[in-house]
Parts: sequence; C-alpha cells; structure tokens
Amino acid sequence: RVISGINIMEKLQAIRGMNDILPEEALEWEYLESIFYRVVKSFGYREIRFPIVEQTQLFKRSIGAVTDIVEKEMYSFDDRNGDNVSLRPEGTAGCVRAADQHGLLYNQQQRLWYQGPMFRHERPQKGRYRQFHQFGVEAFGMSGPAIDVEVIQISAMLWKDLGLTQYLKLEINNIGSAQDRKKYAQALTAYLSGKVDELDDDARNRMHSNPMRILDSKNEAVRSALVDAPKLCDFVNQDSKTHFRKLKELLTELEVQFIENNRLVRGLDYYNNCVYEWTTDTLGAQGAVCGGGRYDGLVRQLGGRETEACGFAIGIERLVLMLRSLNKIPASALRPTDVYLVVVGGSLESEAFSVAEAIREKYPHLGVICHCAGGKFNSQMKRAYNSGARVAVVLERDGEATVPLMEGKIRSLDDGAESIVTEIDNIPEKIGKFFGNSEV
Ligand code: AMP
Repeated sequence: RVISGINIMEKLQAIRGMNDILPEEALEWEYLESIFYRVVKSFGYREIRFPIVEQTQLFKRSIGAVTDIVEKEMYSFDDRNGDNVSLRPEGTAGCVRAADQHGLLYNQQQRLWYQGPMFRHERPQKGRYRQFHQFGVEAFGMSGPAIDVEVIQISAMLWKDLGLTQYLKLEINNIGSAQDRKKYAQALTAYLSGKVDELDDDARNRMHSNPMRILDSKNEAVRSALVDAPKLCDFVNQDSKTHFRKLKELLTELEVQFIENNRLVRGLDYYNNCVYEWTTDTLGAQGAVCGGGRYDGLVRQLGGRETEACGFAIGIERLVLMLRSLNKIPASALRPTDVYLVVVGGSLESEAFSVAEAIREKYPHLGVICHCAGGKFNSQMKRAYNSGARVAVVLERDGEATVPLMEGKIRSLDDGAESIVTEIDNIPEKIGKFFGNSEV
C-alpha cells in the first residue's frame, strides 16, 4: 500500500493452522515435556531424532496410498533436484526408516522415543492444526503382548503424573492381520454394494478403495446402513485372538481400565492386532489425545527384515489444552523467573552483575534477571513485578559520599516482606530464605 507517498509494508502472518508458541505457553510445554522425559526414561526408552522431510514414497508405502493422510493431507513438493519429498505427517515411518537404515533393528530389541512437529493439511479448528507436535514411543523386536502392555503403561503413567487419569479413557480393538483385513474389506464392500443408495459421496468413494474407513463415518444415514454389516472380529485369525486375550488379561491385572470398541480402526494402514486410542470428553470434537498399536509388517514393507513392533503417538497441543483447561499445571512451572535485580543510581552495573552471578552460582535452579536499561526505582520495580519474579533485590548507592556505601535490599514480591543487607556478599545467602528448600 502507498499512503501519501510512503510505502507501508504489509505485515506477514503465520500460515493458517501453524501456531506460534509464545513464552507463556512455552512454559506449559516445558512442564509437559519434563514429565514425558522422566517417564520414558524411567521405562528405559532412548531418544531418536530423524528428519522432518523424507521421500514422499516413505509415507505412501507405510501409512498407505489410499488413506486420508496420504491422499489429501500431505505437504508434498518437488525439491530443487526434482525429488518428490514430504513434510512428515507422523513419526513412525521416519523412525522405522532411520532405525533400519542404521542397523538398529537387526536381531535387536529397541525401546525408542521421539518428539517433534508433524504436518497435515487438515481443516484447522480447536485441537486440530496443520503443524502440530507429537511425542511418540516405538518398541521393536518383541512379539508377545507384554510389550504392547508396557507401551500402554507408559501412557497411563504419563496421565497419572499429569493428574489426568480420571479424564481419559482407553479404547482398544483387535484388527487382526493384514490378510484378515483384506478378506474383511472384500466382505464389507460386498455388503455395501447392496446399500449404495444409503451412502454419502464420501462412503461411495471409499467403498472400493478403503471400505473400513467408512466405519468411522459421522453421518447418521451411513451409520444406520452399517448396522448389519459384517464384523471385523469374525474375520480375525486365532493367533491374533490369543494375543489380544492375553493383552487384556495383563491390562486387567495391572488395573489399567479399558473399553473394547470394535469400530476402532485408526487411519493408518500399517497396524495389526491390537490398536488403541486414549480419548477425553474435555476437549470437544477433537477428543483423541493418543493413538497407537502394533505394526509387525511395517519394517518389512519398508525393505527391512521381519521385525515385530508397536508404539503410540500423543498429540502435544491437545494435552496442553487439557492441562490448561483443567488447571493441572503447577504455578511453580509457570513462573518465568525468580529474582529481579533492580539497580538504582549510576555506575552500579558491574556490582549488579557480580551479585547476579553469585546468586546464579549458589542457586543454579533460580532464574535471575539483572535490570539492564536504567530508569527510576519505581519504573524498575514495576518491571520486577511484571517479570513474574518472586523476589526483587534492590541495589542502591547511599548518597553522594566519596566512598560510596552499598546497600542491598531484598523484597518479596509476593507479600512485600523485606530484608536489608549491608554486606553485598551476603545477598545470595539471604535470598535462600525467600524460597522453599525444594525450590532452590
Ligand atoms: P495419529 O498419528 O493420527 O494416530 O494421531 C496421534 C495423535 O496426534 C492424535 O491422537 C492427536 O492427539 C494428535 N493429532 C493428530 N492429528 C492432529 C492435528 N491435525 N492437530 C493436532 N493434533 C493432532
């Protein structure tokens, strides 16, 4: 735009569905991350990091070419060499690719976790974004139901430590093997062929390519057309049934409560046997916070050797929304800093820096801000309050004496309690009294 000859630049905005996480919110994320790190570590899981961009082929071959994610939601483009690449829409495919490429899967058991941004071109709304973040856990090389249960236990432990157990429910289903589902899909297509008039466009489109996705339909007419449809559980092989039965027994013994939902199919093709989802009523429409299951065929499908595997992914944004709305984040985690040094009068910067340094050395867990921009006592105190610190340390030169006397004052910003310190070296010692033992 040009106004009276001045060229005014338009401000650029973030891309729709891609959020900035501002400092206040970042504290909520850090809290959640710290609990997640502790829990996965306590189960002996190790971190793996892999790229955000991969060959498009990787996601087509793993997630499935006729899934919503691959058909409609991927950010795919030709890079400058003309290679077709995609922003990762989820983590499992990249994790398997990386682990296999570096020989972590051959004849070994692995317990891994990852975290990071994922990209799906979905319709943005509360709890659903185009760039979102996941924590994920993947376990490789173990076949029995014990490892499925261990992975579920990790999520249950996380909810417990976050104070969310009562707000989340676990739904599980046995979707059998890929062959079972192929037979089932044929039966479902045959059934739906007699109901074409009752289906919507979406269901008609999926009827031949991916009929199981129709089971998720929210359309009432479609749902009622499905009432007498064949059931997947009637097509599941005996081994899968035994695996699932043992898994349920173990969960029951561990007192992890679950509900069986035979409509749960998940939107990714690579799963087999047990799949699950943790959902909540506290988020409105986007109630799924964690999804997972077993995917024994995936490593092979991506060119590796047969390797049993299972895992889950948690949506971080949804968990943060939940924690915030239920007020589950402790105030201490949301405090941006602890101590603010107010420096009144000229040429005290170097003293202020040494005091700040001494406090940081004595209490490495406290955040210490040293005022840097001059100004009067009142305006500095205002900044001290606004910083969120609990304690202000005021350094002031006493009058115009030739040998200036230093006076330090420590003031609690919570209740105004003050302590005068004449020896500047005593400040760190005295500050400790303004904080609880567990805080410093
Ligand atoms: P999925 O990879 O589809 O199994 O998703 C696993 C979890 O990631 C879900 O349970 C959600 O919590 C989260 N999630 C998936 N898609 C989105 C999205 N578009 N925006 C925010 N969170 C998402």
